[in-house]
Amino acid sequence: MLSLFPNLFLFLSLLIGLCNCRVQTLNTNPTHFNPQVPPLRTLSSSKRFEGSSEFVKLKYHMGPVLSSPINIYLIWYGKWPQSQKLLIKDFLNSISDHRAAPSPSVSDWWRTVSLYTDQTGANISRSVSIAGEYSDLRYSHGTHLTRLSVQEVIATAVQAKPFPVDHRNGIYLILTAEDVTMEDFCRAVCGFHYFTFPSKVGYTLPYAWVGNSGKQCPEVCAYPFAVPGYMGGGGPGHLTPPNGDVGVDGMVSVIGHELAELSSNPLVNAWYAGEDPTAPTEIGDLCEGLYGTGGGGGYIGSVMKDGEGRTFNLNGRNGRKFLVQWIWSPVLKACAGPNALD
Ligand SMILES: [Zn+2]
Repeated sequence: MLSLFPNLFLFLSLLIGLCNCRVQTLNTNPTHFNPQVPPLRTLSSSKRFEGSSEFVKLKYHMGPVLSSPINIYLIWYGKWPQSQKLLIKDFLNSISDHRAAPSPSVSDWWRTVSLYTDQTGANISRSVSIAGEYSDLRYSHGTHLTRLSVQEVIATAVQAKPFPVDHRNGIYLILTAEDVTMEDFCRAVCGFHYFTFPSKVGYTLPYAWVGNSGKQCPEVCAYPFAVPGYMGGGGPGHLTPPNGDVGVDGMVSVIGHELAELSSNPLVNAWYAGEDPTAPTEIGDLCEGLYGTGGGGGYIGSVMKDGEGRTFNLNGRNGRKFLVQWIWSPVLKACAGPNALD
């Protein structure tokens, strides 16, 4: 899940005072830069990892990964403007569409995720598509959801025809509108993934939830398009979102994070670090807040800026641009992304 603990790099960088402050400027458009932003988390919450090398002990626990073509079933909970839906769908549809965008692309980014295998050696699928959509315009389970009631939202959706139960290749992605609150949203999580219980939904279905934080806590969950206020005047400011929507551009990176983790740990018994499966450190958690080469110590890494100052690191279909965090590579044993400079 995307939790509110500091990432390893931020922590290590602060710990050993290492800061790669190199700013690369190329004579091409777009410009590469490595913006400094206020730290994502405060040091005090890093205690969890002090004296621990949990982070680098990512282990495979013998469970399945999503090695078959992945069918995403979208559940739009609450009122979603069409423009915001299109933005998120363009991101999801960019994952498999390797011809739709120049490098570094969303499809290149997913390649790191696809390096993970199960015990038979089967890789996570590179085929990801939107297989169905359901709109819960009437907030069927209210405007405050919990980790359990979100499963009832899925149950309501799969009971509606023609939205199917796809227990072979399906994953369910519940996206809540900005007026919906979720248990622990903004305080502990920006998104999470799990699987449904047969007693609630009738089946065991992998799912992820991500909320639009635009009105509730953009400085937490739409970082770095909004930054914490504690820096006061004179500190580094926020970055301009690539599609002009702080909340939804921020969601895109959280959706990427959750999809990567859902695919590599769908039943919470495959790829994670740490001894506690109820609080696993997964392949997205290891690289939270890192978007390019030279990140850490208050820097997000080298990313791109277009002529209008919009920040991004990936290209997608329909000329879209996105800023998506890097993912831990099982090959490099480091965070990786297609916009790496080395
Ligand atoms: Zn996570």
